[in-house]
Amino acid sequence: MKPRADMTRREFSKRLALLGAGLSVTAGVGRPAETSSPSENWYEEPPKRLPVRRCDVVVAGAGTAGVVAALAAARTGAQTILIERKGYPGGTVVEGGTALHSFFNLWKAFPGVPKKQVVRGIPQEIVDRLAKVGGTSGHAEMIRGYDYDSVCTAIDTELYKLVTFDMLVEAGVLVALHTLVVGVIKDGSRIKGVIVESRAGRQAILAKAFVDCTGFGDLAALAGATYTEPNDYPVANSMGVGGVNVERFYQYLESQDAVTQLARGRRSGKDGQIVRVDCRLGRLPKPFQEEARKIMLAMVTTTVHDDYFMFVKLGFKMPVSPTDPDAVSQAELGLRRRQAKAIELLRKYIPGCERAFIARTSPTLNIRRARVIACDYDMSLTDVIEGRHFDDDVLVYGFHDSAPRLQIKNGGTYGIPYRALRVAGIENLLAAGMLITSDHEAHMSTRNTVCCMAQGQAAGTAAALCAAKSCGTRELPYSTLRDALLKGGVYLES
Ligand SMILES: Cc1cc2nc3c(=O)[nH]c(=O)nc-3n(C[C@H](O)[C@H](O)[C@H](O)COP(=O)(O)OP(=O)(O)OC[C@H]3O[C@@H](n4cnc5c(N)ncnc54)[C@H](O)[C@@H]3O)c2cc1C
Repeated sequence: MKPRADMTRREFSKRLALLGAGLSVTAGVGRPAETSSPSENWYEEPPKRLPVRRCDVVVAGAGTAGVVAALAAARTGAQTILIERKGYPGGTVVEGGTALHSFFNLWKAFPGVPKKQVVRGIPQEIVDRLAKVGGTSGHAEMIRGYDYDSVCTAIDTELYKLVTFDMLVEAGVLVALHTLVVGVIKDGSRIKGVIVESRAGRQAILAKAFVDCTGFGDLAALAGATYTEPNDYPVANSMGVGGVNVERFYQYLESQDAVTQLARGRRSGKDGQIVRVDCRLGRLPKPFQEEARKIMLAMVTTTVHDDYFMFVKLGFKMPVSPTDPDAVSQAELGLRRRQAKAIELLRKYIPGCERAFIARTSPTLNIRRARVIACDYDMSLTDVIEGRHFDDDVLVYGFHDSAPRLQIKNGGTYGIPYRALRVAGIENLLAAGMLITSDHEAHMSTRNTVCCMAQGQAAGTAAALCAAKSCGTRELPYSTLRDALLKGGVYLES
């Protein structure tokens, strides 16, 4: 929080103290107020000469989609730089979720419908690499709750970071960690480069094609793309919980007739172990229910290790979009308090959790979305649940996070077209991940990890092809992209 020009030192300290206590302060504090004397409240940055780096493709954000986009771009022959503000690749897939939803169609909910793996290619390669080091449950079939997802693919969050980092280095991607995209160099509607900032200072990275995988849509917003900020989800900080007895936890839930989801898969090197459980909160002790609701504690969890819950999720509804740094600071504190409260509740009321402790938290809170970036096509709920395919499909997907309430028709699939990844109004920018799809209920499908990964493979491949041909994203022939995707192991139905 910065002192406002019209604030006394005492007022500033008071506001800082309120912020630290997680109490109410005016959202937007720290931003200079618009007044009639702008010179007092604004600082004009002097122009600066920056060192320049060059490559073919820049991918901004080494998260769920960005890792796959960079791998795809590099394997398609592009010199690729992947820029990430944190100290590891992975993003929300290693911080927010419970399992990778979903590589498959929802076949188990529709008797007679065949099981089909619809996302393959690089996302599946990541799972294969994780399997080699004991970092996944594998594609474990759901025994209960299979009308939500027919498969549970749980991961080890820490091994995911290492495995994907190794894969990026093997593919020749230049991974720039601890580096933030803060600006864009444009020539008309074409991006010439991004400005990044790290402890080494500012730098310009010039490239031919760009992919925004920042989740927040930072690159697209900086480039002047049209966007909205719906603030339609709670933010979260999911934690890993150690010191739990998974079997006793499960047996207790069974004794309360509370289990709604169950999957068995590989855990601590043994097959057939519990790797996913969810339950009806209403069957648990009343005081637990009441407190759990207040802190938005979700009881669904997955694991690939004995004595460990990989993800326990807490939610927090922010009054404004998570692009507001002051409101985010309050939410971070609120979430950490909720994590501590959740551990207290689990220890007190839930058998198997008496010795639970926080083993891992996310370094920053997790968002389900912030900015929605306008693209040439916007996926609708009808596209998703009616199972539409397009003549420029770049991926196939079959999961909806609101299942069983909303399912893709008849256990089928839908496609996402190439045009849904092309950022509107900008010649050479693609987007992949949670930042596309404006309709909330359609987004409840397209935002899931495996869909984001598949979008990443499509966007990275397309960006590399555009760079090789020195063309804009709209000039790339779909047939060229399709051939490259099929070569990269992508499954298509149209
Ligand atoms: C609490 C929670 C639970 C979820 N549960 C599930 C689940 O169980 N299953 C499922 O399939 N999906 C789940 N999801 C959804 C899914 O995890 C996300 O939608 C998906 O991972 C988003 O991927 P992404 O690539 O768009 O963004 P991210 O994976 O968040 O990647 C964005 C990356 O960009 C980096 N970045 C951001 N801005 C900049 C910048 N300016 N410069 C440089 N780097 C930057 C970030 O640090 C991050 O690494 C959940 C999401 C949340 C929040």
